Amino acid sequence: MERLLENQVAVVTGAAQGIGFEIARTLNQHGARVVLADLDGDAAERAARDIAGEGIAGEGTETTGVACNVTSEDQVRSLIRQTVDQHGRIDVFVNNAGITRDASMKKMTVEDFDAVISVHLRGTWLGVREASAVMREQKSGSIVNISSLSGKSGNPGQTNYSAAKAGIVGLTKAAAKEVAHHNVRVNAVQPGLIRTPMTAAMPPDVFAQREADVPMKRAGEPAEVAGAVVFLGSPLSSYITGTVIEVGGGRYM
Ligand code: NAD
Repeated sequence: MERLLENQVAVVTGAAQGIGFEIARTLNQHGARVVLADLDGDAAERAARDIAGEGIAGEGTETTGVACNVTSEDQVRSLIRQTVDQHGRIDVFVNNAGITRDASMKKMTVEDFDAVISVHLRGTWLGVREASAVMREQKSGSIVNISSLSGKSGNPGQTNYSAAKAGIVGLTKAAAKEVAHHNVRVNAVQPGLIRTPMTAAMPPDVFAQREADVPMKRAGEPAEVAGAVVFLGSPLSSYITGTVIEVGGGRYM
């Protein structure tokens, strides 16, 4: 396998499980040293050890797990500072951390709305601001924000989540324009229905119905999202910024 991120440094938020874990694992397989950040610091450390234990990436490609709540300005700043202290640079930063608080508008509380907006929008904005500050000094870097096809189509029961995920697209494009002349790229990925702990929480009949609506007739795997992230993080996409890649098996095309 050609390694696309040899000697690079990557940070992934929400990396203890699901899509974030697979993104971290795939970046590491491509030669990057990866910092896995998660609200659950112990789980992040375990995930980092699991990846290191696979021993695929080899020398100089260590993984680290750290606690970080992406809604906290101080904690995101300290994640960036720790990474630069340890590795000297940040080449790829992936804003992946996310939550759902699904309910119809009749039942959704203001707390459900604020929590989802805060993790996705405030969290992604903090990650973009802090990572791009380091990258503009380096005159290189790639930021990848994990949106969702829910932000394109709007899902009933997800007025909070759909708003946050659509907001990530606007944030991605605005930030991309601000930092493009520093050779810093900002792109987004919109996964469709992906098999993770987040979607395992859905009632099986709802999951099956959503799967039936996908033109490719199956849910996606986290590794299929990770492939798009590696592409956007690597020199293969060196002239691509402000874009959104859909990883949805043709859903909502
Ligand atoms: P998941 O619930 O399996 O994992 C999310 C991770 O984020 C967890 O480890 C959790 O601890 C962490 N996290 C939550 N809040 C955090 C915070 N404040 N700070 C730091 N970490 C935090 O979810 P997933 O399915 O792997 O989703 C990952 C991303 O992909 C999310 O942004 C999600 O919205 C998006 N996405 C998922 C799907 C899907 O079908 N699974 C589809 C489209 C988009």
